[in-house]
Amino acid sequence: MLIHIPTVVVTLILGYAMLALQMSVARKTQDSAPLRIWNWGNWAFLAAFLFLVSRLAVPLWVSTIGGNTLILVGLALYSQAIYLFLHGTAPRSMWITLAVCCAAVVALHPLDYAPRSSAYSLLQVLMLVPGVWHIIRHGWYKEPSLRMVALTLGLCGLGLLWRAVQALNDPFAFGDALEPGRGPALTFLVAFICMLGSGFGFILAALERSANHMENLATHDGLTECLNRSAAVALLGNTLQRAQRTGESTSLVMLDLDHFKSVNDKYGHRTGDEVLRKFAQTARLRLRASDVLARMGGEEFALILPTTDAVGAVHVAESVRAAIEALVINNLKDGTLSVTVSAGVACAAAGAVTTPDLLYHRADTALYAAKAAGRNRIELAADL
Ligand code: GH3
Ligand code: MG
Ligand code: MG
Repeated sequence: MLIHIPTVVVTLILGYAMLALQMSVARKTQDSAPLRIWNWGNWAFLAAFLFLVSRLAVPLWVSTIGGNTLILVGLALYSQAIYLFLHGTAPRSMWITLAVCCAAVVALHPLDYAPRSSAYSLLQVLMLVPGVWHIIRHGWYKEPSLRMVALTLGLCGLGLLWRAVQALNDPFAFGDALEPGRGPALTFLVAFICMLGSGFGFILAALERSANHMENLATHDGLTECLNRSAAVALLGNTLQRAQRTGESTSLVMLDLDHFKSVNDKYGHRTGDEVLRKFAQTARLRLRASDVLARMGGEEFALILPTTDAVGAVHVAESVRAAIEALVINNLKDGTLSVTVSAGVACAAAGAVTTPDLLYHRADTALYAAKAAGRNRIELAADL
């Protein structure tokens, strides 16, 4: 293979240095433990390649053992970062595997170049597999950029396996790592793919996650995790437009907790907050996947019910009302407390032309009627 190995090694060292430096700078705005750990992996790879070229100045065994140990450390850190990214924790067992593999690097060092290359490649595959497998099992449907990480690391694994077999089949191609030959060429190509594909893939996955988080913050209420008012108004507008095109009904239910001020007064704001959280959790359990619960402000919520007529909406509202009436909430003061909710239902019937404002106004008027009629009940707004 016509690859000038020293040039590739220098390129790799510069590439890892750039990646590690840029990630260090990016961490100032994107500070996350997985990115930090991944970047330690980059520094380990950078050090590994520096060790590899250091054989021009230091004894060969120092360069070989140091370089290969650091490659294993880098791969272990990558896997660790993937675990952290997907689960928030990482198993300690990986450090034990790493320690055993590093001990094997030292123990296998007296072997000839070719069998040693083969064995070292297999050890590297061993450190690679947990991260790749974990993305395939738990991360494939999360941030799409993670797939790139799994694919490139997987490709590296295959390259290393091929290297392990070829080193035994064709030992002469696997001489000194810095000498020209198919073995070294393949090794450095694999390292290059690893750096570019997985490194940038992981950064993109972290950015994707933080963009999703920002979007979630902008559209959701932090206390109850419901859609917030502005997102709900936009959603209602879209839902009504779609319903007008497809000729379906849309319903809106406005819900307001009864005498909530006295809950706060009697039990304190913390308990009040807990009631709001429990209310949202309980109400959500009564909904279909396409129904949306939004917090419109304070203790006032809205249910957006696509493809639902007035009868269906009253049924859903009644089911939420009954569930809240049956809800028992713990509090610090005297054991438990209960709350009730009133609701106003308005329906934009199939074919009717209406606006989000008008539908909201009708549901709100019905809600006030429910309050006036004694609370813990539902009122249906008159048709347009
Ligand atoms: P009604 O049955 O007529 O709806 O009476 P109400 O007491 O529920 O209504 P009112 O509008 O008088 O009081 C609403 C209360 O909701 C007042 C406010 O302190 C409380 N509240 C609003 N937002 C929050 C919140 O985020 N947390 C807590 N704990 N209380 C809130
Ligand atoms: Mg209220
Ligand atoms: Mg209110």
